[in-house]
Amino acid sequence: MHIKNERRCVACRENKQQNDMLRIAKINDEFYIDQKYKLGGRGAYICKEKKCIDLCIKKRLLNRAFRTNVSQSIYDKIGEYEKDN
Ligand SMILES: [Zn+2]
Repeated sequence: MHIKNERRCVACRENKQQNDMLRIAKINDEFYIDQKYKLGGRGAYICKEKKCIDLCIKKRLLNRAFRTNVSQSIYDKIGEYEKDN
């Protein structure tokens, strides 16, 4: 059964509840951390877990998800959402 509001993490590729994830939105070629999931635009999701965030930053997975170069400042911001669990 498909569970509502599930999204796929760009790092571990597992489907998880949106609330457990960080959304990055691309709007008019600018990137934003979409904390309330309301910005629209194109989105990519990452689990708010150290392993996924680390992998995303290390491999620059957002570049792949959005097929464009995502600036370092966005990766820096994502790093601030790391949780140890
Ligand atoms: Zn993940």
